[in-house]
Amino acid sequence: MYKVLITSRSFGDLNRQAFDILERAGIVSVKMKEPYHPEIFSKLLEPCDALIIGAHPLEEDAVRGAGNLKFICKHGAGTDNLNMEMLRKYNIQAAHVPGVNADAVADLTFGLMLCLARKICDAAHDVRKGGWSKHIGTDVCFKTLGLIGFGSIARKVALRAGGFSMSVQAYDPYLNQLPETYDDVRLTDLQTVISTSDFVSLHVPLTNDTYHLMGEQEISAMKPGSFLINTARGGIIDEKALLKALQTGHLAGAGLDVLENEQPGSPLSHMEQVILTPHIGMYSAETINKVGCACAEKVVAALSGEPVENLL
Ligand code: NAD
Repeated sequence: MYKVLITSRSFGDLNRQAFDILERAGIVSVKMKEPYHPEIFSKLLEPCDALIIGAHPLEEDAVRGAGNLKFICKHGAGTDNLNMEMLRKYNIQAAHVPGVNADAVADLTFGLMLCLARKICDAAHDVRKGGWSKHIGTDVCFKTLGLIGFGSIARKVALRAGGFSMSVQAYDPYLNQLPETYDDVRLTDLQTVISTSDFVSLHVPLTNDTYHLMGEQEISAMKPGSFLINTARGGIIDEKALLKALQTGHLAGAGLDVLENEQPGSPLSHMEQVILTPHIGMYSAETINKVGCACAEKVVAALSGEPVENLL
């Protein structure tokens, strides 16, 4: 009987649908309840044939110790914690679930833009504390939105921006032209997107090329009074440079769902101009369920020797 380890915290949290898919195929599932710890993880992984992995690291030692491991599915789209070169050495296939969480992440991206610009969180916080003071923000509608990366999530953000009469420009060096649906989006260079947008929103994977893509130079080149939004990965922004730009008032604010080191206590979390959420991009009930079921289906297919989509 095949066994799968699940380390994504949200997998099957809301109902049993994703677990049922595994059970119907005769696959035993074990969910790691503790926060990630290399030793606990390695021990749990040892007897498993498959792994549904969250965002934690996957060390070679753990993979080496899991002699039966044949397949890994990333619970989500971002694959920066999977070293494919290392996994191929051990003949382990891996897949991810791209696009399924795009709407949820796009909703959060827009939510961060609206909350920052209209100071919604500050105003609501005041009222909750018994106050009734007015907070003057700036419009989101009719402003210029700059998208860095124009894949699944950025496209959903662009569609939402259309409803707000925003002018949308994007930088994606891997695209020569845009599909017809995005006729209103202007594909341009990084410098233009950074220096002429009122909101710059990041939607690229974290790779060697995109690490600190928004460094001191790029952040300084942003339009004074503009906002930076990151729902992609923490490492894409140089956080020290961002902190400085917020302290000097060069940037009006930042909306961050991700950090390079995701734990409480970041100096950015104490700033009024920052809305920091704990990596909840795909945390809507519908999306958690869809992503969980998609992962379970991929594990069933892989262990039954059937073709698996979105292999890495
Ligand atoms: P995607 O693969 O559909 O799109 C990524 C786009 O980035 C592609 O079009 C690619 O051409 C482009 N790109 C790659 N390198 C680039 C570069 N150097 N400069 C500009 N563009 C570049 O991915 P997606 O589904 O849109 O997701 C984007 C990222 O968002 C994921 O890699 C993941 O890290 C992150 N994500 C975060 C959450 C969350 O919970 N906050 C959820 C899902 C995804």
